[in-house]
Amino acid sequence: MTAFTRALATSALTLLVAGTSMAADKGYVGIAMPTKSSARWISDGQSMVEQFEAAGYKTDLQYAEDDIPNQLAQIENMITKGVDVLVIAAIDGTTLSNALANAGAMDIEVVAYDRLIRGSGDVDYYATFDNFQVGVQQATTLVDGLKERFPDTKPWNVELFGGSPDDNNAYFFYDGAMSVLQPLIDAGDIAIPSGQTGMDTVGTLRWDGSVAQSRMDNLLSANYTGQRVNGVLSPYDGLSIGIISSLSGVGYGSGDDMPMPIVTGQDAEIPSIKAILRGDQYSTVFKDTRELARVTVGMVDALLGGGEPEINDTETYDNGVKTVPSFLLAPVAVTAENWEDVILGSGYYTRDQIE
Ligand code: BGC
Repeated sequence: MTAFTRALATSALTLLVAGTSMAADKGYVGIAMPTKSSARWISDGQSMVEQFEAAGYKTDLQYAEDDIPNQLAQIENMITKGVDVLVIAAIDGTTLSNALANAGAMDIEVVAYDRLIRGSGDVDYYATFDNFQVGVQQATTLVDGLKERFPDTKPWNVELFGGSPDDNNAYFFYDGAMSVLQPLIDAGDIAIPSGQTGMDTVGTLRWDGSVAQSRMDNLLSANYTGQRVNGVLSPYDGLSIGIISSLSGVGYGSGDDMPMPIVTGQDAEIPSIKAILRGDQYSTVFKDTRELARVTVGMVDALLGGGEPEINDTETYDNGVKTVPSFLLAPVAVTAENWEDVILGSGYYTRDQIE
């Protein structure tokens, strides 16, 4: 290096460093995510860090491995570190009120991310998907699949699974699904041989796939000795994989005389896309986490810049203390028919990751 190029390199570096610190001056964002055990939350975290940093923010991203005290401690720590905004996907939507009261007292803005935070007046905005519609799409694909795979069976034997009872979304998914299924149950087109319905009974704590797998084992041994199950409403891919293991374990999917039931899902996780291509899982619901990150960054930008965040729903999400102004993105139902268009077409995964 000559003295001249060295000087040039040094000043370029100085500019770069100055640029970075200037950029990071826009604010400090604490991002609390629930767990790395599901790929979707990893994508959410990555997209947010990328997009916040590109927009000039400093970030602190933490995962709490589905442990409530851990998430609370992470949030308290972010408050101590002086964040300007908290973006939180809560593990249990009801346990954060005290921490958020502290945040509120310090004028820290709070955005509920994907999952509503309940019981707190300190939640400023909510960025999510149309969660009722997710359930509608799950049940609609379930019924489409039943018609396609079991055209001569009536009633169809179906079992229901719900998400985690401490996650507000789980009720929206369930209610959305039942808005489609209940009329068919009432008409006698769908039977629930176990008789198990309602979130109190069919919920799956912490969205745990192994809990769903054992419940499916029990449902099969208690109700399906002399009959076959045709469909399973599953609200999340991680549960669907457990349910499919249970079904395969007793021979479903092994031949034409014992076809795999129609199993739904959510999140377009890679093992589930693969299961859809094998014909083991019938559908999932794609929620583009890059878009959710984009909406969230936009909200934060507006909040800190003194503007009005863009919202499209001011009625649906009552958290028990206030109705939280929300932006709802549109979910997309995915089956073997449209996965290439939706999943590869959007660049969410590459073909190599799937095939
Ligand atoms: C999210 C879903 C996800 C589930 C389990 C819900 O709150 O909205 O996308 O499947 O949590 O992680």
